[in-house]
Amino acid sequence: MGISQNIKKIREELPTGVTLVAVSKTKPTEHILEAYSAGQRAFGENYVQELVEKQSQLPSDIDWHFIGHLQSNKIKYIGHFVSLIHGVDNENLLSAINKHGAKINRVIPVLLQVFIATEETKFGFTRNELNSFLQSHPIKEYPFVQFRGLMGMASFTDNTAQINSEFSVLKNLFDDLKHTIFHSANEFDTLSMGMSGDWKIAVAHGSNLVRIGSSIFGER
Ligand SMILES: *Cc1c(COP(=O)(O)O)cnc(C)c1O
Repeated sequence: MGISQNIKKIREELPTGVTLVAVSKTKPTEHILEAYSAGQRAFGENYVQELVEKQSQLPSDIDWHFIGHLQSNKIKYIGHFVSLIHGVDNENLLSAINKHGAKINRVIPVLLQVFIATEETKFGFTRNELNSFLQSHPIKEYPFVQFRGLMGMASFTDNTAQINSEFSVLKNLFDDLKHTIFHSANEFDTLSMGMSGDWKIAVAHGSNLVRIGSSIFGER
């Protein structure tokens, strides 16, 4: 199947209200344009330089999501156009985003990344770290950051019981924060979880944004 058929098939299966971010990292611009022609507007990239190049070459109504691990000194390259930064997992980066937002006078939308998997290689705050971080750093300290929600990646495993339990942990944390710390902000509405291999499980657990690469564009 081609890219546009893949997108159509996934869209048919996605419940309304769930955003599809097509993860186009390492894929050429022609492939992105094929998805764009099928009506896809949200794309996810992991590498700053690649994102900047693609953004300059592709239609301006694309919503670019940065889903990789962002180094704080790189925010200046993407802060003015990025729709959502998914992987914010430390105070340094949050301060850098806030500072850059102040400089360009833009409130920059982010998701806090939470570590829910078993693999040490994955990034994110643990639940405890996130709770104590939010206690010691009130979100008022970051007026140029818009906290839109949480992002997480489940373990890479065939054990669906484990994936279920990891997504359910993240959903509970999301609901909890939404009704407490982020209650008054009222824009804490995005739960980014689910990739090609596990998005159906993620959606069943309340994900409203899935990040799908290989099921759309093929293996990388
Ligand atoms: C690459 C990547 C994806 C997409 O992965 P697929 O398995 O190809 O769908 C989703 N989220 C993040 C954070 C990624 O790095």
